[in-house]
Amino acid sequence: MKVILSEPFTNGWVVNIIGLASDEPLWRRVGLRKRIGIIGAGTAGLHLGLYLRQHDVDVTLFTDRRPAEYRGLRLLNTVAHHAVTVDREIALGVDHWPTDAFGYFGHYYYVGAKPEPLRCYGDYHAPSRAVDYRIYLPRLAEDFLERGGKVEYRLVKSSDILALSQRFDLMVVCTGKGAFGQLFPVEPAYTPFDRPQRALCVGIFKGIAQREPRRAVTWYASPGAGEMIEIPTTTFNGMQSALVIENIIGGDLEILAQVRYDDDPRAFLDLLLGKLRKHYPDCAERIDEREFDLANGPLDILQGGVTPTVRKSHVKLADGKLAVALGDLHVTVDPVLGQGANLASHAAVILGEEIVRQDVYDERFMEHVDRRRNDRVLGAHLWTNFMLTHLEALEPELSLLLKKVAQHRELADVFTDNFNYPERQWDCFASVERMHAWCESWLGETVGRESRADDGDRHAPPGHPAAEPDLGRAAGARAG
Ligand SMILES: Cc1cc2nc3c(=O)[nH]c(=O)nc-3n(C[C@H](O)[C@H](O)[C@H](O)COP(=O)(O)OP(=O)(O)OC[C@H]3O[C@@H](n4cnc5c(N)ncnc54)[C@H](O)[C@@H]3O)c2cc1C
Repeated sequence: MKVILSEPFTNGWVVNIIGLASDEPLWRRVGLRKRIGIIGAGTAGLHLGLYLRQHDVDVTLFTDRRPAEYRGLRLLNTVAHHAVTVDREIALGVDHWPTDAFGYFGHYYYVGAKPEPLRCYGDYHAPSRAVDYRIYLPRLAEDFLERGGKVEYRLVKSSDILALSQRFDLMVVCTGKGAFGQLFPVEPAYTPFDRPQRALCVGIFKGIAQREPRRAVTWYASPGAGEMIEIPTTTFNGMQSALVIENIIGGDLEILAQVRYDDDPRAFLDLLLGKLRKHYPDCAERIDEREFDLANGPLDILQGGVTPTVRKSHVKLADGKLAVALGDLHVTVDPVLGQGANLASHAAVILGEEIVRQDVYDERFMEHVDRRRNDRVLGAHLWTNFMLTHLEALEPELSLLLKKVAQHRELADVFTDNFNYPERQWDCFASVERMHAWCESWLGETVGRESRADDGDRHAPPGHPAAEPDLGRAAGARAG
């Protein structure tokens, strides 16, 4: 047996042993650890880091934020974790907010259709949960440190990655939505938009009574104006209501993304109350107007937009090693269906499993990772883009499906639970034929057959390479 001691790394000496025969991979036989560098400590980086620590992998997280900083940050987002993500958190040992106390159980729906609004309720198979990320992320960062994870606090530039790569077997980049210095190019076939499709006004508010009898999200649509998601959210002062107000650009609600709370809080709240009464009356009627305000002060509001984007899943660095894109950096979805962090967690654990299972991090490694993560991640992206474009004017095929959901509780339950499984939702929405077949399979009755021949060609799921001709028209029209 020949033992070669090579250069020192942060965790000691790396030992190469040649000539040891066994079925076990070399690194396991000699107790060597894989060394993984992760840039970014959001859900993607933390779930991956925690998974790898459970499997004794040597992990270093690079982040520009210390745990103590989160308390003083502006609202980052308003994230709901579905049961599939909660299950992962239980497996990772970070279920600090058990769903029996902090969870919610399904969705109420309100769609302002003409002549009558649609209203219904659907259950999940198991509860979801929303915790303010200014509480959630630092808590998981502490877990990671307690479990032997290493953290380096610094802002990493894309030009730093080659030097960092020397220290690791694999670099994972999960710095959130954005280009990370254009290191990961956009995938044009999956990226039909060059700008946000909604102007967002997002806040955590006090003074909105929770729904009875079941604590639940309410998902609203006001065709021509936008959508709103009301989420029971655990924040610094207990359970309050997050409002994710998604406003069609040029529509009646866009102003909510422009008027600043800080300039005149009372004027902002009056404007918001007026718009809620007009577009989302089922929310407005539960508001105590004397108490209604941002839950923890002026930092509880976020305005802006998200451009749905798919980037290349990995790149080869100049040293021949790979850097893998994970989470929002890989696929950024609009928050209208609450999928981004759930996808980040899903993809993180798959990447973790493949890092543990495989010993060579090359193109073949990435084929396994992408095959396993893409159905859900890209399915969610395509379904979200479909909903964004088809909700704007409540297109007939979507209107028909939502009516069926509103009329039949079993459909409402399946539709709601599929927020856990966006690839199943995309199985249903990917063509008009699929939408009709999905309803028929649950209801045992013929749905929309008379319009099928006409609708078939018209339906173009945006961001789907198979839909390029329609996609080009749709994207071009919107990008203006
Ligand atoms: C309003 C809103 C509502 C949402 N609601 C939901 C929802 O209900 N459900 C859902 O699943 N998703 C939701 N999302 C999406 C969700 O927030 C994201 O998908 C998720 O946070 C992505 O996680 P990530 O780890 O990829 O990135 P991020 O959470 O953005 O984390 C990136 C991390 O990298 C660090 N970082 C960035 N650049 C650098 C650098 N150069 N060097 C070092 N560190 C760096 C940052 O500090 C940060 O900690 C919502 C988003 C928004 C905006």
